[in-house]
Amino acid sequence: MNKKKKILLMVVLVVVVASIMFVYNIYNNQHEYITYNEFISQLGKQKIDKVYLSEGDKIKVLDKDGTLFITDNPRKQDFKEMLLLKGVAVQEKGYEFQIQSILGTVFFIGTIVFLMYYLSKRSGGMASNNILKMSSAEKTVQDNVQIKFEDVAGNYEAKQSIRELIDFIKNPDKYSVYGARLPRGIILYGPPGNGKTLLAKALAGEAGVPFYAVSGSDFVQVYVGVGAARIRNLFKKARQAGKCVIFIDEIDALGKKRGSGTDGAGDEKDQTLNALLTEMSGFNENEGIVVVAATNRLDTLDEALLRPGRFDRHVEIRLPDVNERLEVLKLHSANKPLSDKVDLKEIAKQTVYFSGAQLENMLNEAAIVAAERESHEIDMVDLDKAFYKVVAGDEKKDRSTIDMQDRKITAYHEAGHALVTKIIAPDNTVSKITIIPSTKGAGGFSMNIPPDRMYSTKSEMENNIKISIAGRAAEEIVFGEQNITSGAYNDIEKATDILMNMVKRFGMYRDTGLLNYDIMYKNSLHVNIDGDIVKYCKERMQSFYTQVKALLNKNIHVLDKIAEKLLAKETINEKELNEILSQTKKSA
Ligand code: ADP
Ligand code: ZN
Repeated sequence: MNKKKKILLMVVLVVVVASIMFVYNIYNNQHEYITYNEFISQLGKQKIDKVYLSEGDKIKVLDKDGTLFITDNPRKQDFKEMLLLKGVAVQEKGYEFQIQSILGTVFFIGTIVFLMYYLSKRSGGMASNNILKMSSAEKTVQDNVQIKFEDVAGNYEAKQSIRELIDFIKNPDKYSVYGARLPRGIILYGPPGNGKTLLAKALAGEAGVPFYAVSGSDFVQVYVGVGAARIRNLFKKARQAGKCVIFIDEIDALGKKRGSGTDGAGDEKDQTLNALLTEMSGFNENEGIVVVAATNRLDTLDEALLRPGRFDRHVEIRLPDVNERLEVLKLHSANKPLSDKVDLKEIAKQTVYFSGAQLENMLNEAAIVAAERESHEIDMVDLDKAFYKVVAGDEKKDRSTIDMQDRKITAYHEAGHALVTKIIAPDNTVSKITIIPSTKGAGGFSMNIPPDRMYSTKSEMENNIKISIAGRAAEEIVFGEQNITSGAYNDIEKATDILMNMVKRFGMYRDTGLLNYDIMYKNSLHVNIDGDIVKYCKERMQSFYTQVKALLNKNIHVLDKIAEKLLAKETINEKELNEILSQTKKSA
């Protein structure tokens, strides 16, 4: 329902109430008037049943036949006593007053109930909440931001890009003299927990200006027009404050591509987005206000937001690489009693794909675990526990429930991955192998970090396929074909994915040609090629599998050693793996 309809509804409501009152009043004043003398004579004839006393100049009288009269109010001190003595009932508040107050109350309550019902229906029960949140813009301002760039690890390019803005906020006039058009808005995009909020805060902290934080989701799910009003209110407040940083988290919530809303909140979102765009083009470049917005994905945003004069600077905030992870770890462990034995570099290597927030969380968990066992410092064991907590939920407490055979199969499966990696792709790092299951159900865990590179070569991809299927191969060699497990589910998925890409997109095999099969499909040629591709891929995969099995068979003594160590220690790291490999001769 839009604004117009709502106003119309209110008008109708008021008109209905007013006309009922009006009709009632007419009805009310229809009572027959009798003079005071007549009243006294009726009173003498004992024909009066009840008198309604009131402050006004008329009073109402009910006779024994049940008819209502009005007559003049004598306003005598002992009038009431006189009536009572004559056996007439007296009611202090006037008749109409009584009825009117009842009617009024009923209408009042009715209107409120109706409005609340209507509003709560419109916004899914959030009505009262949202009314309260209307002033949230004022509560989110932070005046003295202590966060500085040194509190943000990594993100070098983003920092560089944001650093330029500090001077712009501090000395906007310097730039306007040169006619330089500086960005009013900057969008930070990337996966959650990597410092987008932190960077925006650091910008305010470094520039020494207030920090206004709101979230895009605060602006949806409210009544029509409120989101837009909140935006205007926010900018008004910010402008009054002078220079500042406005941070809009989850901007996608209000800035999704227009017309894509199917949730019925489309109207409202558009209004809010329009208000934001208007406000952003409204402030002058030399005001020293910068709007920083954050989102996980840039591609879902309305193009209008990304145009020059709005959010024209886009900075990607990626997951930290190994050096950045080390920085984050150093930063967040500075205030924690880490044991000398803890090697943060090692941990940084083992935490591929961890976000900054996850790393911080891991250190915090480690501190908790250390405190639980009343150790005065955080040791490697604490960090190990914390590692699994963060990657896969809590480490299973009761390990005895896991069948010994299961543990053995897992150990050989993981050992297979690790060994094949070490033999065919020694550049990759096997950071950690474990047979400790997590509550999320993952049987084991092993990671390899391919060296950072722009492209993957054919042999790298084939190696990755072989590494993926090495777990299953080890299971089969050691336990027999009948005892292979479903534990290879993810491995097979990954291997198939790589192979399909090599065949269908990268044109890497002579037999399937230098062709893009997606385009072939579009041209409806699949009748002939579907079967061919499946047949070819099956053969390829089978040949990889045979090669991997041969490799493992040749090095079965090494595989045994790794599996044994895993069964004994449950978790081994790269150093320990390398020790095993150097002690036993492996052959390619
Ligand atoms: P985002 O806004 O990208 O979702 P935040 O900036 O809110 O992520 O980060 C959440 C928390 O994770 C931070 O408060 C901080 O403790 C930690 N963190 C994330 N990235 C970094 C980083 N680059 N340097 C230091 N700490 C980080
Ligand atoms: Zn596996």
